[in-house]
Amino acid sequence: MSDGPITYAELAGYPLTVIKALHGSPKKVTALEKVGVGDVLDLVTYYPRRHVDRSREVAIRDLVPGDEAMVVATVRNATQHRPQRRGRGRPLNRDEFDVTDASGGRLRITFFNTWGIDAKLPVGTEAVFFGKVDTFNGRPQMTNPVVDVIGGEQTGRIISLYPQHLVSIPGQKAKIKLESDDFSKWVHVALGKTGARGLAEPLPEPVRKRLGLIERGQALWGYHRPDAWADIATARKRLVFDELLRVQLALVLRKRSLERTAKGMVHDASGELVRRFHGALPYPLTGAQERVIAEITTDLTGPHPMHRLLQGDVGSGKTVVAVSALLVAVQGGHQGALMAPTEVLAEQHFTGIKALLADLTVPGDPDPDSLFAGQAEDRPLRVELLTNKVTAANRRKLAEGLIDGSVDLLIGTHALIEDAVAFRSLGVVVIDEQHRFGVEQRAALRQKGADGATPDVLVMTATPIPRTAAMTVYGDLDVSILDEMPPGRTPIVTTWVKTDPEGDDPEAEAPVWDHVRAEVAAGRQAYVVCPLVEGSDKLEVASAEETMERLLGGELHDLSLGLLHGRMASADKEATMDAFRAGRTQVLVATTVIEVGVDVPNATVMVILDADRFGIAQLHQLRGRVGRGAHASHCWLVGPGTTPDGQARLEAMVRTTDGFELAEVDLDLRGEGTLMGERQKGRNDLKLASLRRDREWVEKAREVAFELIDADPDLSHSDVLAGEVALFLGDDEADFLLKS
Ligand code: ADP
Ligand code: MG
Repeated sequence: MSDGPITYAELAGYPLTVIKALHGSPKKVTALEKVGVGDVLDLVTYYPRRHVDRSREVAIRDLVPGDEAMVVATVRNATQHRPQRRGRGRPLNRDEFDVTDASGGRLRITFFNTWGIDAKLPVGTEAVFFGKVDTFNGRPQMTNPVVDVIGGEQTGRIISLYPQHLVSIPGQKAKIKLESDDFSKWVHVALGKTGARGLAEPLPEPVRKRLGLIERGQALWGYHRPDAWADIATARKRLVFDELLRVQLALVLRKRSLERTAKGMVHDASGELVRRFHGALPYPLTGAQERVIAEITTDLTGPHPMHRLLQGDVGSGKTVVAVSALLVAVQGGHQGALMAPTEVLAEQHFTGIKALLADLTVPGDPDPDSLFAGQAEDRPLRVELLTNKVTAANRRKLAEGLIDGSVDLLIGTHALIEDAVAFRSLGVVVIDEQHRFGVEQRAALRQKGADGATPDVLVMTATPIPRTAAMTVYGDLDVSILDEMPPGRTPIVTTWVKTDPEGDDPEAEAPVWDHVRAEVAAGRQAYVVCPLVEGSDKLEVASAEETMERLLGGELHDLSLGLLHGRMASADKEATMDAFRAGRTQVLVATTVIEVGVDVPNATVMVILDADRFGIAQLHQLRGRVGRGAHASHCWLVGPGTTPDGQARLEAMVRTTDGFELAEVDLDLRGEGTLMGERQKGRNDLKLASLRRDREWVEKAREVAFELIDADPDLSHSDVLAGEVALFLGDDEADFLLKS
């Protein structure tokens, strides 16, 4: 190995056993591997969960009842109380500890029903206790304080507290303890080993200076072993930036490389067809639609294949945008395809788009080289549907039309790109409601284009995600946002009906059912969404059936109700939906199967039972099922709101109907784990960085990634950086880098 500064790649090559204390502890090494720490790089990027400033420590002698305080003390005595279960009540477990500190004071710490606390705090343990001080028998006491075990290893003013683990390993009865103090020691030794060589700095000096970031080595020391409280924030900033930059570099490398290697189709946007389409619409485009159509047109007329994500809330008018893109292909003599996630949605798109395009004709084209060679007359536009229901005979006819080019637009499910469907010249593909557009699908698409050219792709989603999250999760796509609703929609009024957490609460629910009956009396319709049962279809169906019976036997006894759930045969589902669409049933009782795609403008009431069980995105989608017609709509959220998060979700739903605002709330409540899950599979990507807390740094990292890659497309002049990107990526991405 070289003698220059040590890179992350080099650290990743050192086994944990280079740390002397671990050399003789194979069990600890195995346990560490189990928690994802397999080499020295993992160790130095195993960050403290938090830091404790001992200068803010209060001596037990000086504790003031009523104040919140932090005490660092040693356990002297521990007693457990485990009362027998009495009657219906739960037994109240109590653990009491007497702790002392250097001031000579003695403090009583009491925990109620805190499982495992006795094992965590055996006599002799030194720990940080943070909580409110009260008195018990004239002595200071804390009840259920926040507690962190520390050891004697760290003597500085600031203590780093690392995540601790109890790990079971094969062939070993007793669990292995990995404690904060252990980590602190091992990390210290590991950092110490970088010694005179120091840690390699991946960022070019000017970039680092411009962003006001400290050096990598200094940051690692500063976060693990801060001398001053202020060190922590500066160190964190640098380490966060590095994490975000690696992700962005990977995404931007992929994006740029696709642009270089894939041959796109250069569409001609000057044709007549799109203009005719817009002219025939019964309304003017919104400003947002105009802007987004222009963004898409720029992509379509450019040499690179388009990979664009279109985000727009339910009802923001994505269909017109999608059809505009498809028609650019058609007017240039190519074909368009729209892919929906389900048959129901495909059919709905088909019906909707056919209506939108009725009477639209394709201008004749005198160009002898075009698809319509010699055809100077206008001709009708041909739109077809492909789902599993299409008979074999019709499928053959369809296949002919696709090959000879007489089918202009094909709408269908996934089958449309995956099957042996051959187009004469597929120019633009729109994918609706697709959360992830995989590498395989891209490959499949490339084969559908003419002459090895890749069709342009627009991915549409009605699940808004915050900007910085989109940059990370969909960072290899360009993003367009429809952030303006078409005028004339009556805003949906949302009410949270707070019910008794103990059980049924007919009194609180009464206004909901009164409202449903009043709307039905006025000729409108309603949805009732049943309690979500996580992880069990069966129970969920049972809950839907129960709700149906309850309403039929009570509040809605004189109305006609339909039941819809995921376990019904598709013919039954369809019959139920048809009856609702036609107005024969007035109230549709359903599980979340109605979340996507159902479009009945006459429905004006959405009732969501146990609403605090649903996530914000889901609630928002459900609410989007109403408010689709000219009549005022109402959404009732019924639930106790027992947890703080559940309450925050319902309050946010009442406060706003803006999907992007709700997405921000969601990110605040849930963090990014859920977002990152699918797409990012690198080596423990974001350990410190938070897409919510570090929004501004996501943007900076993306800018820097473009700057660096546009100056040096394969990072061949930045070995350290290139090495890190490769190191932190999953196998997929590493393959990808090697290929390009
Ligand atoms: P999305 O697919 O984004 O949920 P749609 O494309 O289905 O939304 O459009 C929702 C409704 O808004 C449709 O009834 C559509 O006709 C209407 N609409 C779309 N664009 C406009 C516009 N510019 N002005 C008025 N109404 C519009
Ligand atoms: Mg839509």
